Amino acid sequence: MSAHQATLRELVIANRILAHEQIFDSYGHVSVRHPKDPERFFLAASVSPEQVQIEDILEYGIDGQPVTATTRAQYSERFIHAAIYARRPDIRAVVHAHTESVLPFTVSSTPLRPLLHVAAIIGHDIPVWDMNADFGDTDLLVTHPDHAASLAQTLGSGRVVLMRGHGFTAAAASLELVVRVAIYLKVNAQAQWAAMALGPVQFLSAGEVAAADARMGSPKAASRVWENWAQRCGADVALQARP
Ligand SMILES: [Zn+2]
Repeated sequence: MSAHQATLRELVIANRILAHEQIFDSYGHVSVRHPKDPERFFLAASVSPEQVQIEDILEYGIDGQPVTATTRAQYSERFIHAAIYARRPDIRAVVHAHTESVLPFTVSSTPLRPLLHVAAIIGHDIPVWDMNADFGDTDLLVTHPDHAASLAQTLGSGRVVLMRGHGFTAAAASLELVVRVAIYLKVNAQAQWAAMALGPVQFLSAGEVAAADARMGSPKAASRVWENWAQRCGADVALQARP
């Protein structure tokens, strides 16, 4: 199998994992940078993530436009992915989602912070991007390259940026890692809710985040969770069933 084919298969699996783990609802999207051309990336056409097949995946330029003209409907927020690939050469995969348990932290003065060792990968400080600050009253969708550039700037050098009244965007050095970041962002948000209901919360220190991130980012930890999640959502079976 070519690197190109393998990348497309992994992107289909990532879509299914994120849908199955309820990071995505009918919206949300995940992309991966082209393995050979850093100026391009792969992202599905406008299809619900749970339904994405290899033939739905389109190739995009760093400007957020498809490399080959297409009649397929496209995600209007595809510029999020383009802006992050353009700004961050270290990033190989991007997720954008509206995960329910994360949403309260996008509109609250209480920051979302890591409190579990497995969630250290989300980063110690998680910024909140308020589209209104740069663009005034909008429909809150990131449908223009200028919106996306502002979002990417707020993400800075981190892996997660919350988006006020909307959701979040995560970026990482691999597809496997960005999927894990998105899933543990949700797990951490749920745990933080529950812990705050009990009383004051002790979060991970900056040193603990750095140490746990170094361990949880190891390739061994990575392959174990990816295979487990892929099997749980039936992604391998779905891919094998197609000619
Ligand atoms: Zn969105």
